[in-house]
Amino acid sequence: MLSVKEAQGKILNFKIRVKKKEIPIISSLGLVLAEDIISSDDIPVNDNSAMDGFAVKAGDTFGAGKISPKKLKLLEEDIPAGYVPSAVLKSGYCMSIMTGAPTPGGCDCVVMKEDTKKEGDCVLVYKECRAGENIRYKAEDIKKGSMVLKKGKEIYPADIGVMASVGISRVSVYVSPLIGIITTGSELVDVRGKLTAGKVRDSNSYSLSAQVKEMGTEYIRYGIVKDDKQALEEKILEALAECDVLLLSGGVSVGDYDYVKDILIKIGANLVFWRVNQKPGKPLAFLTYKDKFIFGLPGNPVSVMVCFEMYVRPLIRKMMGSSRLFRKTITAKAACDMDHKKGRANFTRVIIKKKGDDYFFSTTGMQGSGILTSMVLADGIALFSEDMGDIKKGSKIEVYLIKRG
Ligand code: AMP
Ligand code: MG
Repeated sequence: MLSVKEAQGKILNFKIRVKKKEIPIISSLGLVLAEDIISSDDIPVNDNSAMDGFAVKAGDTFGAGKISPKKLKLLEEDIPAGYVPSAVLKSGYCMSIMTGAPTPGGCDCVVMKEDTKKEGDCVLVYKECRAGENIRYKAEDIKKGSMVLKKGKEIYPADIGVMASVGISRVSVYVSPLIGIITTGSELVDVRGKLTAGKVRDSNSYSLSAQVKEMGTEYIRYGIVKDDKQALEEKILEALAECDVLLLSGGVSVGDYDYVKDILIKIGANLVFWRVNQKPGKPLAFLTYKDKFIFGLPGNPVSVMVCFEMYVRPLIRKMMGSSRLFRKTITAKAACDMDHKKGRANFTRVIIKKKGDDYFFSTTGMQGSGILTSMVLADGIALFSEDMGDIKKGSKIEVYLIKRG
């Protein structure tokens, strides 16, 4: 049986040809940049005020204090945002200026309005102002011709703001794959269905859809298919005609009604591997069909989510053009002794706590593959690898952080 790393290697070794498309920046959140973003402007385009207040010469404010204000003559021309002043400031004078407005020639600092008082056509300044204070200099954020965002970067809200600030309204991104989701099992009822004896509500198509959605890519839910060979074949062919990656939940183990793998092979899919030496998720199957990828995920609700995290998500990220395929990991110490049978990898759902400089993990409680609440509680998935025996308190383990934020 394959080890976790071998199975991941087999999936991620496939060469992927990522396509590009140009879209409005507002639609690019979560996607990956397919071009470098170069600024054709200095940002800001000119020196400007960081405060509402008065444009002054720093030297004129020296010695100013609460009981010894400096008196400056106020020029009639004021400077609202967006207006370019015509006056040049001379010693002994000041100009009223608003946040973001261009500073006038001769001015080397802006006194906050809160540190002044108007008196007739003069302004009393109650605080010294250093040269450069409250001025935002031309190009201090972004220099004309500089690279602001690099190709291959995942797009976050601030990136979209930065692109807008340098005048980019449309951006080239990698095309994300379309993911198809089919859940199989004669025991399954829809979320609105009544839970009578022997029935199970289909949660997997929801958790999988949400895991895909969280990645910023699109999916189609094909609903529940009974353990029926013909119905399965029809639905699988329908999904493969539309999607780049097909996720099937259930029916991939050794049960009498587990038809998924056989049907996929029958329609011409190539079985890359079946079964991984791991818990949960041992019956995981991975296949290719033309240029498409298929995962046969074990039906247990935790197995489905863990296998998505460890195998499906990295492949989708690769298909999205990202170079960071896996979740961030930390090394955490076991908060207590934990049982682990050597010879098989275990994905333990854990809660992380920080004490001093160290991270400690403890399990979320019951670890059965049907205990979906163990995923709800989990900050991360700790990988107890095949070669580890019982985990001693304080041992260091790699934990994949699965929660956002
Ligand atoms: P299977 O892999 O088909 O043998 O299913 C294993 C277990 O997972 C069974 O107890 C199923 O009832 C459960 N299961 C399968 N599919 C789903 C699903 N879509 N939602 C929730 N539980 C499921
Ligand atoms: Mg089943």
